[in-house]
Amino acid sequence: MYIEDQLQEIRANIAAAEKRAGRAPGSATLLAVSKTFPVSDIMHAYDDGQRLFGENRLQEAQEKIPAMPADCVWHIIGPLQRNKVRKALEAGVALLEAVDSRKLAEAISRIAGELGMTAAILLEVNIDGEESKHGFTPEELQQEWDALTSLPNLDIRGLMCIPAPTEDPEGARPAFAALRQLAEQLRTRGPLPLPELSMGMSHDYAIAVEEGATIVRVGSAIFGKRDYSH
Ligand SMILES: *Cc1c(COP(=O)(O)O)cnc(C)c1O
Repeated sequence: MYIEDQLQEIRANIAAAEKRAGRAPGSATLLAVSKTFPVSDIMHAYDDGQRLFGENRLQEAQEKIPAMPADCVWHIIGPLQRNKVRKALEAGVALLEAVDSRKLAEAISRIAGELGMTAAILLEVNIDGEESKHGFTPEELQQEWDALTSLPNLDIRGLMCIPAPTEDPEGARPAFAALRQLAEQLRTRGPLPLPELSMGMSHDYAIAVEEGATIVRVGSAIFGKRDYSH
């Protein structure tokens, strides 16, 4: 079966990259990006042991979460509008990966408080400084750091980035290294341990693992080409 074969190959590639980088086996986790793919496909991945899934649209996640076994873990990896925060937290999403502004972080903090919970998030960094991109620039993140880390009801677990696509997977290495270095600086500054670095996709996840990714977000290399036509 295609999906099982792909998963096994990707797991082996991740393990090899961990080894090359002298990292502990299992220190990088594969997140299967299931956006646009039906529950029947996601079940194939589940049957092969995959439990961590990512969707970029809340509405799609809200449909899939109840349709999949309860031991699946779901991340929202796409931009989240402030007026959808409550629904996202109520949907049972484990981690909001693409928190790209202080205003959004404040909204999540407030609504998590209203729901009597702590919301786990990653902060999205516009690591290569593209005008068009979501996320904090590294400078903004340094400036906003004290304000962000003093928000209640938030568990800021780390950083994520989506660097500009490059022809050669090696082209993403500087961006991945820059995200790791930024996380190291912020750890030194305190007060958070920031264990997670979410970076790398189908094309370049092995490079991301070499550069310290703890979560790689892989979609098409597992499930095949996405069809946005319906
Ligand atoms: C779609 C998506 C991915 C997966 O992309 P592939 O190239 O299919 O692996 C990863 N991260 C984010 C934020 C995405 O939206």
